[in-house]
Order: sequence, then structure tokens, then C-alpha cells
Amino acid sequence: VNNNWKIRRKYLLILSIIASYILLLAASLVLFSNTALAAWISEAGSCHNQEYAPEMQMELEEAGYSTHMAKVESEGKEFTGVIVDVNGSLREVQNVGTALVQKGLTEEPSPIADEKDTDLLEILGKKRYLPRKPTETNPKIENVLLLYTEPLENQINPLTTRERAEMFKDLVASHWSLNIYMKLASEYEQGDIDDFDVLMYIGENYLSKIPKSLINDVNNTDREVLWINYYPWELDSRKLGFEVSGTHSFDFDRISYRGYDFKLNPTDTSLIEVIDPKKAKVLAWLVDNESGKSIPAIVNANDNFLYVSYLPLAIPYLDEPIPFFNALHETFGHHEKVSKALLRLEDIHPESDFDDLAMINGFLKEKKVLPHLAVIPVYVNPEKNINISILDRPQLINVLKDILSDNGTLILHGYTHQYDGVTGIDFEFWDVCLPA
Ligand SMILES: [Zn+2]
Ligand SMILES: [Zn+2]
Repeated sequence: VNNNWKIRRKYLLILSIIASYILLLAASLVLFSNTALAAWISEAGSCHNQEYAPEMQMELEEAGYSTHMAKVESEGKEFTGVIVDVNGSLREVQNVGTALVQKGLTEEPSPIADEKDTDLLEILGKKRYLPRKPTETNPKIENVLLLYTEPLENQINPLTTRERAEMFKDLVASHWSLNIYMKLASEYEQGDIDDFDVLMYIGENYLSKIPKSLINDVNNTDREVLWINYYPWELDSRKLGFEVSGTHSFDFDRISYRGYDFKLNPTDTSLIEVIDPKKAKVLAWLVDNESGKSIPAIVNANDNFLYVSYLPLAIPYLDEPIPFFNALHETFGHHEKVSKALLRLEDIHPESDFDDLAMINGFLKEKKVLPHLAVIPVYVNPEKNINISILDRPQLINVLKDILSDNGTLILHGYTHQYDGVTGIDFEFWDVCLPA
């Protein structure tokens, strides 16, 4: 019982992580199309940085540095950090840091430590890079057939196989303009593959049988195929140049991709062995931290068959999805850099500093950025016996009205955004201690 409870609780937490990931998908895909390393300018732990960040960012931009801001949570406190983008190696990051100190722009810059378990945005911020073939575009891909497996019997995962397929569909469709048709793999009919430019198969359910016709068609096609997780061992390994054994492993806790290491929440991975390196190119490696052992994680065979040996986003864990997102370009096409992002100012409540908000709005207006504001109308701090309505903050209301008239959008972000804790830090609709 205890174990079950733990698992259920874990998945509840994961559910909320997934929700935030969906919001981040669009932003993270955009981030891939820049090359940069980042150095933190402000240190964690101080809430005052929030007031300080826009000013500091302007100062840095004026000094000729390219910067962006990221919100980070540390010990229940949120603060804003200014990140300076640096093209190049860790040494160059350190050089820029030294220069900043000399110019009096910052006191103690520290490059982001690689092994630190920190905020997703921070990690995304430092691991941005160009797809390998930025200017080359694949032949136009229009129609995709997305096959998924039967529902799992013991559903402990928050998503059904169908919901997961929809998540993948949304992910791909948010980045490439495609028509995506979904179907159960068991309903695949011989020749279906010829009606599409890409066949995408998500092998999530190990017990789900897939039709022989699908295996045959994939073995004999020259169309783009993206095959995820189970059942690749029935495919023609000689043609693909790699073999996948029926055995699995939960040992791997890292993915190594283009010289970067990404954390992987240990998950069931199929074991790949390359038999012809001319046909099968390994894009990403799974690494076992303990033994240092590594095996291929993502393989591109004959430039038209992409195989991913694990289920991406099964339990999204920090930067785990990045190698997968980036490798998708091998199937759906490399493209010119596109910079689209949504900006949301989070947790604006009666205790928020209206001067700061006005300054941020001025800055965004200048940059022609339309923000979304997540507004909480009542601020509560039970310990200090504080309960303030936004109606008691006419100056803040004026700033919000200005933002509205500048075409910004206000979103009601709960009523108090707390259960028994402080507004913004606590959750409103469930108790974080008792997952209920
Ligand atoms: Zn892209
Ligand atoms: Zn919030």
C-alpha cells in the first residue's frame, strides 16, 4: 500500500510537470535554434533580484551584451535572473564574466554548473544550439501518419497511449505545418504508408501486437519513418544497419547528445547495437552514470529511419526532451531559424511592485512584445495575518489598465493562489503535502 501511494503521489507531481512542459514545448523548441552559453549574473536566494533584474538587463544590453531573463525558484522563493548569452566555450563564458566584473556591471558572475539540478529554463538557456543542417530543408513533408498502441492495462501513467499520441501530435504540429492523422497501430492496413510522407510509430505498449503488414511496409519503404520505443526487433536490421535486442534496461540515467549531457529519469530502454556504422548513425547515447557504460539512444539509419530507443516525455525530467526535440528535425526537416515565444508574467498579485511592473511593461512595449499577465486578485499570508485585495491597490490597477490598453492580456490565475501557505508559493486547489 505504501509503495502504491508513493507511486501515485509521484505521478500526481509528474502530471503537473507535464502540464508545465506543454507550456514550455513551444518555447524550448525555439531556444534550440540559437547558439549560446549563459552565465548567471544574479545569485540565487535573494528576492530583491526581482526588482533589480530589468534595470540590470538594460544596463547589460546598453553595454552591448545579448541577454534574457529567466524565473527561478529556490527554496520556495521565486526570483528573476538575468542571463548573458555567450557564444562559445566555458572559458569564453568565464572571460565574459571577468570582463563584466572589470566594467563594474556585476560582482560575482558564476557560469552555470553543469551537474547542478536546477530550473528547466536555466538548463534550456545554456543548452541552445543550432540544428546541424540549418539552411538545408528536407523535401516538403505534408502528411504524417501517427500510429500508437493499445491502452496499457495497468495504467499508472497519467496519460493514456492515445493522449500521449495527441501530445506528440501537438508537439510536432506546433513546430512544422503538417497534416497529422492518428490511428491505432493494430488498425494499420497494408499500403497505408504510401499515402503519407512520414510514418511515425509510438511503441508505448509492450504487449500491443502490431500487424505484419506494418513491419513489411516499413521494411520495404523509402519514406521517412520515425519509430519510437518497442518492437523494432522485427524490422530488417541488415537494411537499417543496427539491431535492437528484446532485452531492456533501466540502468541509464543520462543522454549524451552533441557533446552535451542531459538527465534521463531512468526509464525502460531497448538495447541497440550498431552493425553497420555506414548505414546507422548514432545521434545520441544513453549513459549509465555508475558504470560509465553507453549505448546508442537515437539512431538515424539510411537518412530516413529515425529510431528512438526510449519513450521521450514519459516522465519528463528537466532537460530530458531536448535531444529528442532536436532529433525530430532529421525526420520533419531542418529549417531557417524561427524565433517565436510566448511571454507570461507570472503571479502578479496585490503585493507585486506596481513600479516594477510599469517599468517591465515600458521595456516590453519598446521591444514590441505583448505579454500575458497571470493575475491573482487576493494576496494572503496566513502566518503574518495578511489578506489584501487588488481593490486596495489602485496604483497596481492603473498599471494593469495601461497594460490592457497596450494590448497585453490579463489571465485570472486563481483567486488567492494558496491553500494554507503564501500566495504564489502555495497551490490553491490542492494540498501539496497531502496529494489531494
Ligand atoms: Zn526547429
Ligand atoms: Zn502561479
